[in-house]
Amino acid sequence: MSLARPRLRSLRSRQLRLPSVLVALALLLGAGIAAVVGVRNLEAANRSLEHTYRVINLLVSTEAALHMAEASARGYRITARDNFRPMFFEATTRAARQADELAVLTRDNPTQHTRAGQYASAVREHLQAIEILMDLPAVDALTEAERERRIDQSVSRMERLGVLSRQIMAAESDLLQVRQQHSEREATLLVVFVVLALSVALALLGLLVWGLLRENRRSLQLEREARTAVGDLQRSLAARDALSEQRRAQSVYAGMLQSCQTRDEIMALTARTITEIVPGANGRCYLSRASRNFLESVGGFGERIISNDDVLLQDQCWALRRGQPHYIRGRSGGLRCAHVDPDAPVEGISTLCVPLVAQGNALGLLHVSAPSSPTADEDNDAAIIISIAEQMGMALANLQLRETLRVQSIRDPLTGLFNRRYLEENLSREMLRCERRRLPLSLLMLDIDHFKRFNDRHGHAAGDALLAHVGQSLRTLVRSEDIPCRYGGEEFTIVMPETDAATAIQRAEEIRQAIAGSSILHMGKPLGPITASFGIATAPEDSTDPERLQALADATLYRAKAAGRNRVLHTSHTL
Ligand code: GH3
Ligand code: MG
Ligand code: MG
Repeated sequence: MSLARPRLRSLRSRQLRLPSVLVALALLLGAGIAAVVGVRNLEAANRSLEHTYRVINLLVSTEAALHMAEASARGYRITARDNFRPMFFEATTRAARQADELAVLTRDNPTQHTRAGQYASAVREHLQAIEILMDLPAVDALTEAERERRIDQSVSRMERLGVLSRQIMAAESDLLQVRQQHSEREATLLVVFVVLALSVALALLGLLVWGLLRENRRSLQLEREARTAVGDLQRSLAARDALSEQRRAQSVYAGMLQSCQTRDEIMALTARTITEIVPGANGRCYLSRASRNFLESVGGFGERIISNDDVLLQDQCWALRRGQPHYIRGRSGGLRCAHVDPDAPVEGISTLCVPLVAQGNALGLLHVSAPSSPTADEDNDAAIIISIAEQMGMALANLQLRETLRVQSIRDPLTGLFNRRYLEENLSREMLRCERRRLPLSLLMLDIDHFKRFNDRHGHAAGDALLAHVGQSLRTLVRSEDIPCRYGGEEFTIVMPETDAATAIQRAEEIRQAIAGSSILHMGKPLGPITASFGIATAPEDSTDPERLQALADATLYRAKAAGRNRVLHTSHTL
């Protein structure tokens, strides 16, 4: 609501803007017209004033001309000098002309015009009457009575002229007064109108400018808000992209982890995923030794690993001690683990130790460090690495389980030697390999002599201890490329790739002597001497078929038994 109101107001003020401008313009136009009208009125008032002055001037100058004419006539009558004559005629002409001009000037006002006409006629009449004075004999010829009559007429004409002149003047000054009052009223009205119009127009324009300024301010504020919003949006989009990229990397990790065959593959995949999610990350992975007393580094990643020790005691890591992740954000100043390089700067480096656990068993530790970044969501990164460590722990446990099962499936648990299944799978392969390379392969079978008797004398457990001892001896006596197996019971087989008959006989002899010469302790008691008989067959001379070769070696072994035991026989030997 509080946001909607100003917006509504702003909308309304914007809607009123055009009408306000139009009204302001109309008022300004009106004020202009009023000013023009005022000037015109003033001109008209001036003109009427001038007209009145001209009327008065004409009256005054006509009267002056009449007086001049009279004075000239009298002068001529008294002195009879001719120079008064032109003065008289000039004055009469001027008086008549000016009286006519007066009549023309008052044409616009019928009353005044009539009066002016009467005045002009009276002037002419008077001029005609006094013109007789210029004819001296005629004047002298006038009777006294006539002269008196004429003088009376002249006086009465002069009076009439005076009355007319005053009437004309009074009418003119009345007119002038009326016109002035009218124009004064008009001028006052115009001034009031102009002042009001200008005030309203200025007020409207002021409001308009104020509205525009306010809107401009609001636009600037909106622009700033929009810029901030765009920035926020871009940041959240980038964060969302980063998050989805992290999720993608996590799901790729989970998928590929299933297919990892070795611990090194798991390590490499984990290192790559962590550096993809947290660029610039460094780390090291430790796995528990079977003894569980310490952990051993199985690999690191990054250019600045700050957990340098190859071996780690449980007490050196807070995560291992507490059995939960130990996370220290750069700048937060938490307790660093003892396995972290003490020279590494505390400021600006975040560290995370996560125990690797599977089905409640502690398998090891994943240590990760990364430079702190103000833009990164480090808590989220830490959560992802913890989740990766969980998956990694499971994968390592699976791998260990697979390895255990694999060993169990190919190893004999009592002697630690390969079992018969493994022998059969590998004998064919080794024979083919040697055949391709045109190399010999010898198959050696050995059987402990009178083992039943041994069992009977010392007990089954002692028999097992003997078998374990023989297994151990065989493991140490054969080469790494040989395959020693427990064939079953007290019978053993050794596949010797790239070994000819003579060498095989020689090595069998060494083994026979080693068995015969060994003394075995069981439950603190020495067990009696034991011997073993050996039968050897060699490919390709004897056979290139694995089963046949085994059968030949077995048959030769029985020949050795039959020949008195504790001896080595090769198929090539004849007794
Ligand atoms: P020979 O010299 O002719 O080989 O005589 P032998 O007594 O060794 O041969 P035999 O095949 O008659 O006896 C093998 C004995 O090995 C029988 C069996 O009780 C014993 N045996 C087989 N497997 C084991 C085992 O895993 N542990 C123990 N203690 N004895 C075993
Ligand atoms: Mg046997
Ligand atoms: Mg035997």
